[in-house]
Amino acid sequence: MVRRTGPLAVRFRLDEPQWVPDKECHRCMQCDTKFDFITRKHHCRRCGRCFCDKCCCKKVALPRMCFVDPVRQCGECSLISQKEVEFYDKQLKVLTAGSTFVVIVGSSEKPETMMCRLSNNHRYLFLDGDSHFEVELSRISTMQVLTEGSSPGGGVLRAAGMLLQHQPPGSQEVLQVRLDADDDKRTASTWLSAMHKAAKLLYESRDQ
Ligand SMILES: [Zn+2]
Ligand SMILES: [Zn+2]
Repeated sequence: MVRRTGPLAVRFRLDEPQWVPDKECHRCMQCDTKFDFITRKHHCRRCGRCFCDKCCCKKVALPRMCFVDPVRQCGECSLISQKEVEFYDKQLKVLTAGSTFVVIVGSSEKPETMMCRLSNNHRYLFLDGDSHFEVELSRISTMQVLTEGSSPGGGVLRAAGMLLQHQPPGSQEVLQVRLDADDDKRTASTWLSAMHKAAKLLYESRDQ
């Protein structure tokens, strides 16, 4: 069975937004309250729009912009950031720890056993065996998690592999990389499921 997560082409690290200039905001962009000497304006650190204190009162860490300490955000942004904080706490550790897979790069007929892990700066997937190979996350166009163990009664499917398509820098060609769980199926499955969650999180927040 194949589950498709759609195009990724996004990064873990987000750039800080440009703030809406003070002279352009006279009213809260959420509740329309007019700003004056008493009702002060605040900028959301995630989207850069301006709000009154009430509409921009949540303080949440923003790891994707490297804010470890909580920063002020609007209601909409704070919900997304909260999800990301949970993700960073749990899944990112699994991804950087890595797991072993049988890897096939492109149309190569020689599968190789490799350790696959997310780089410490969260921008690459490193594959290390006899050779070294890397995939830049922002260049991944599609990711499919391959599952096994399908049962007629609808039992739990275990993630057993992954198909990635990416375009290496300076190349017009799209290259496919296939990972299949090695002997340690449990670690591989945990790693793949974290990768799937990462793709989902990045995909859902790509326009934020
Ligand atoms: Zn408001
Ligand atoms: Zn916001």
